[in-house]
Amino acid sequence: MIERSLILIKPDGVERGIIGEILSRFEKAGLKIAGMRLVHIDEKFAKKHYKAHIDKPFYKGLEKMITEGPVVAMVLEGLHAVEIIRKIVGPTEPRTAPPGTIRGDYAHHSYEYTDKKGIAVKNLIHASGTKKEADEEIKLWFSESDLFDYETVHERHVF
Ligand code: AMP
Repeated sequence: MIERSLILIKPDGVERGIIGEILSRFEKAGLKIAGMRLVHIDEKFAKKHYKAHIDKPFYKGLEKMITEGPVVAMVLEGLHAVEIIRKIVGPTEPRTAPPGTIRGDYAHHSYEYTDKKGIAVKNLIHASGTKKEADEEIKLWFSESDLFDYETVHERHVF
């Protein structure tokens, strides 16, 4: 049941200076940071990360958005981490993301607007959608030596 998931704070989150606020939500939920780094990816790497979206009409805008500045890449660990993190992050479109979720509280972009402008929806975060996706994405972004095992105080209360 203990899982790891890949999270990216995308360039909009980094440039808006809310890395700390986003990170604190995951920390407060008791998730453990197993790995973390700031990285500016290029188009080639973007195609690997977003391979599932390459043929979508919004891919060009998505690639431009994810390569326009550095992202914070991290691996978070915890019980049902993939599902719990998606719950904290909220649904893809900030317009309809409920209050209390990161996307609902810190953004308000809509598909209606991004479709018109031909850009990707700015929603601050990427979070792996499934355990399989998480395993693949963690391998793409991190080497084993960049991931750490250590004890947090949460383990006393969770496990
Ligand atoms: P996902 O892998 O579901 O996180 O999708 C990748 C990213 O593409 C999302 O986080 C959005 O930034 C963007 N995106 C997804 N669907 C759309 C869409 N219909 N229109 C514009 N951008 C989108």
